[in-house]
Amino acid sequence: MKAVVNRIIPFSSVDGPGNRTAVFLQGCNINCKYCHNPETRKLCVQCGTCVKKCPAGALSLGTDGKVAFDPAKCVQCDTCIHICPHDSSPRTLEMTPEEVYEKVKKQIPFIRGISVSGGECMLWPEFLTELFRLARKDGLGTLIDSNGMVSFEDYPELMEVSDGVMLDIKAFEAFEHEKVTGFRNEMVLKNAVYLAKTSKLYEVRAVIVPDLYDTEKSIREMGDFLAPYLKINDIRVKIIAYRPMGVREEYSHYQVPDQKYLSYLADILREKGFQHITLI
Ligand code: SF4
Ligand code: SF4
Repeated sequence: MKAVVNRIIPFSSVDGPGNRTAVFLQGCNINCKYCHNPETRKLCVQCGTCVKKCPAGALSLGTDGKVAFDPAKCVQCDTCIHICPHDSSPRTLEMTPEEVYEKVKKQIPFIRGISVSGGECMLWPEFLTELFRLARKDGLGTLIDSNGMVSFEDYPELMEVSDGVMLDIKAFEAFEHEKVTGFRNEMVLKNAVYLAKTSKLYEVRAVIVPDLYDTEKSIREMGDFLAPYLKINDIRVKIIAYRPMGVREEYSHYQVPDQKYLSYLADILREKGFQHITLI
């Protein structure tokens, strides 16, 4: 089985505890207005638009009609992803879990684990299960970074080999989640409860965009909703300020919240019993 891999970052200190290799899979099932990696949203449809625009000759159209990418020629100018009309990238690779793990393995013993993100990595659950099995054999930690729109309960084998999930709660109210992402969040909240009850809710993440949804109300409600589970699962919270870098132009005008406001939101959660809160 293969997944489409957008990129592999050998060392990351922001994707879970310690130094980790971060793997980003291609494709997403929602459409966050503030997405700062919109080129990970869709699979390439091989339209060829980017091929002519590459200034380094790193892209070509193969005889099979597919775009071929030559990493040796790429100068990382990002022209291709900026002009892609389909929120995709020609620099992706179809890889098996074994091929990805070969790249991860090179970082042992300098990494504590592996974190897989996206796009939305839960669109590739069988691939994830196999990759994590390989990582676990070498004693590496395994974390999933997810928007929570796929039921974790449906993949018990994956849950068995996962240390936990870093779960986005993009807004607490369903209608606000729909405003932010185009989709309601009943599944996200169901997943949050399932993960908390099974001690797999490593962290919840909220991106703060006061212009887009009622962020204070959302944080309060999220805190009330999750606080009862702190007895079972020490839930970390990451409060992330919206930033316009990489965001599609039509959504890049929102105001960036200041640190004072983020601290205010963190205090709301502290009062509800959350102890591990990170502001970014
Ligand atoms: S980033 Fe894209 S456009 Fe730029 S050199 Fe690499 S493949 Fe070509
Ligand atoms: S990456 Fe985008 S522009 Fe390039 S071939 Fe694929 S869909 Fe077309």
